[in-house]
Amino acid sequence: MQVRVYNFSAGPAVLPEEVLKEAADEMLDYQGSGMSVMEMSHRSKTYDKIIKDAEADLRELMGIPDNYKVLFLQGGASSQFAMIPMNLMKNRVADYIVTGQWAKKAYQEACIYGKANKIASSEDKTFSYIPDCSDLPVSEDADYVYICENNTIYGTKFKTLPNTKGKPLVADVSSCFLSEPVDVSRYGLIYGGVQKNIGPAGVVIVIIREDLITEDVLEGTPTMFKYKIHADNGSLYNTPPAYGIYICGKVFKWLKKRGGLEAMKEYNEKKAKILYDFLDESSLFKGTVRKEDRSLMNVPFVTGSEELDAKFVKEAAEAGFVNLKGHRTVGGMRASIYNAMPMEGVEKLVQFMREFEKNNA
Ligand SMILES: *Cc1c(COP(=O)(O)O)cnc(C)c1O
Repeated sequence: MQVRVYNFSAGPAVLPEEVLKEAADEMLDYQGSGMSVMEMSHRSKTYDKIIKDAEADLRELMGIPDNYKVLFLQGGASSQFAMIPMNLMKNRVADYIVTGQWAKKAYQEACIYGKANKIASSEDKTFSYIPDCSDLPVSEDADYVYICENNTIYGTKFKTLPNTKGKPLVADVSSCFLSEPVDVSRYGLIYGGVQKNIGPAGVVIVIIREDLITEDVLEGTPTMFKYKIHADNGSLYNTPPAYGIYICGKVFKWLKKRGGLEAMKEYNEKKAKILYDFLDESSLFKGTVRKEDRSLMNVPFVTGSEELDAKFVKEAAEAGFVNLKGHRTVGGMRASIYNAMPMEGVEKLVQFMREFEKNNA
């Protein structure tokens, strides 16, 4: 018998069961082709439809304007830490808002290529809040302003975008991709690794305004690291992460069937509220993030005792709630409750937490 657990992993993370079943059904023979999508030429007609449909569905879901390109790339979100400065740092200056580990890594990488300025940070309080970004000292000659919109490890989310004073906004949305509607036109570049909220590891999606795609990149930029090469070739310059893109496409269709991003937002808010309401009333468990900055996707919490934290993680796993251990750099617990985590999973987790609280009072 196959048993599915409630998987609270931060990534790679839970995917919709419907999508996995469909993929399983199509594993040996994709729609009469006699082969798996894994075995198919990325230049074939059949695959061309898969990647084109995926892009069209993503455009529809996010309302992506025509003057933005959608790129399906590889190398994970971390490769973008370099690809962004290599392509966008024309003046060799960029401003970074550092609200967690991923933003910090992006900032450190950018320092290799030019003058990266840390114009705001929340490191003073272990990244438990989002700083006020309404009037930051944005550099005159900054090529862009960079944020990590949802901080996977610390569980914070920008509820209002920073005032970039006219500079293009670049955002890592790996862990909040497609969790709620976005106004793409407010960004110069949006990107994310898909293994948090969309599909299998190995694909990174970049949505970039066309005027930012130029030949004028830093000297020495490898061909594979040029946005222009991928944009000019419809993400088929070389072999793309073909199977991963196929699964992403299925998730886009699943999201459309569920009513799109407005509906997902409503669902995600309801789902997160169940957990946050419990954390606010609990005598044992406490959320670690400033209330107004709480993420809908990643919910860190602690008991205040390392021993009890460990006991909780262990007993929860035995009860079928897995991957609740917090990131190694912060400890405690973290429940990642992405799009594909059903309401029921969070309801049952809270029930389990109530029991645990009673038994350990
Ligand atoms: C997971 C994560 C990354 C790193 O992704 P990789 O694909 O492993 O490189 C970067 N940014 C954020 C916000 C993440 O959650």
